[in-house]
Amino acid sequence: MTNADRAGSAQARRRLLGAGLALPLLGWRAVGAQALRPTPACGAADAAAIQTPAQTAGPYYTPNSPQRASLIEPGAPGTRLVLAGRVVTTACRPVSGALLDVWHCDAAGHYDNQGYRFRGHLFADGSGRYRLETIVPGLYPGRTRHIHIRVQAPGGQPLTTQLYFPREGSNAGDGLWQRALEIALTPRSDRQDGHFDFVLAV
Ligand code: FE
Repeated sequence: MTNADRAGSAQARRRLLGAGLALPLLGWRAVGAQALRPTPACGAADAAAIQTPAQTAGPYYTPNSPQRASLIEPGAPGTRLVLAGRVVTTACRPVSGALLDVWHCDAAGHYDNQGYRFRGHLFADGSGRYRLETIVPGLYPGRTRHIHIRVQAPGGQPLTTQLYFPREGSNAGDGLWQRALEIALTPRSDRQDGHFDFVLAV
């Protein structure tokens, strides 16, 4: 970033704070300058965000998955993953009630193509927030670690994409992997916490 860029973004930040937008930012101001940065999904100074890239569904999508916020299977191996974030529009408005339909392989890299293990759908709340409990998927030949997901605003077109894990040795060798689709991952003592915000063009 050049000095001019830095000055520009500081100016933009001041403009935002000086405008009527100050009210929702009060909480951010209270916790210091670091918190002034918008979420990655709404990263531009003008608060417009770029649509989450679409990706192939692949061969293992099964429709009509059960509605549930946890895909944890009793006794199934795997590191617990809590994936959470928001669904927003390109204008950074929350997509209340967005549908998120998730499927991934088990810890050994196998998809359940007969039933619904590690498949399920859930809905974002009124603020566009979602929270899913599952496990970190395993690896299977030809792909890096990933989670498949379809995200859809009420009445909108579904966005099919895949989420990836940072610092995976197999990312660079997977032609589908995109850094923009990486989950922000925080290791905890008993699980991984993942964050990802989806941006829909609605
Ligand atoms: Fe897959």
